[in-house]
Amino acid sequence: MTQSGAPATPRSTLVITAHAGDFVWRAGGAIALAASRGEKVSVACLTFGERAESAKAWREGRQLDEIKAIRRDEAERAAATLGAEVRFFDAGDYPLVATAELTDQLVVVYRAVQPDVVLTHPVEDPYNGDHPAANRMALEARILAQAVGYPGEGEIIGAPPVFYFEPHQPEMSGFRPEVLLDITEVWETKRKAMECLGAQQHLWDYYTDLAVRRGVQFKRNAGPNLGLAHKTMAEAYMRPFPQIAKELA
Ligand SMILES: [Zn+2]
Repeated sequence: MTQSGAPATPRSTLVITAHAGDFVWRAGGAIALAASRGEKVSVACLTFGERAESAKAWREGRQLDEIKAIRRDEAERAAATLGAEVRFFDAGDYPLVATAELTDQLVVVYRAVQPDVVLTHPVEDPYNGDHPAANRMALEARILAQAVGYPGEGEIIGAPPVFYFEPHQPEMSGFRPEVLLDITEVWETKRKAMECLGAQQHLWDYYTDLAVRRGVQFKRNAGPNLGLAHKTMAEAYMRPFPQIAKELA
């Protein structure tokens, strides 16, 4: 409840990703944590990752439409496991092309969702151009959605903080862990969501190991009070905009 007695609107997170699996590997913990607090999480998935990230299905001889259907089903089950809603734009991947039309569709999403937090890909990824394309549209749409003068349905948005989730090749993508998020309490949920993605089974253990490594960094930065015996699982994020504060903490 707010001070005026009106029911408080639950906090809202918007996740904008290039491909069907991205939100699970890179931000599944953050999504599950927000959902576990009763917050709303909306995933805008620009493509199914049908060409970029579905090699197993292609090798099995499946056709394009069939692969899209497989990836949609996997991502919907993963999102439901994490507690998020997912919407697909079927914009076509490899290459995902940043267009004014697709950016405009994201403006509509921003204004409908009114996010308190935005999660998306970082600026660089020399191994996969779809990820930077999604980043550009996510940031551009956020700015347009803030502008009173930009036409479109819905109310303008505020200035939700943006967090970049970890790319697959962090050192090559200029990624530096600036925020370490403790996802220990939702780890089993994230692992179950990853296991919905049968097309990318080779990544299940990879992202489990990564969560362990980020957890070690979390503990190193948390100090001795956490206790060495505690097995912490974590996700790493970058912040492209300054954190605002009234005191340093
Ligand atoms: Zn991807």
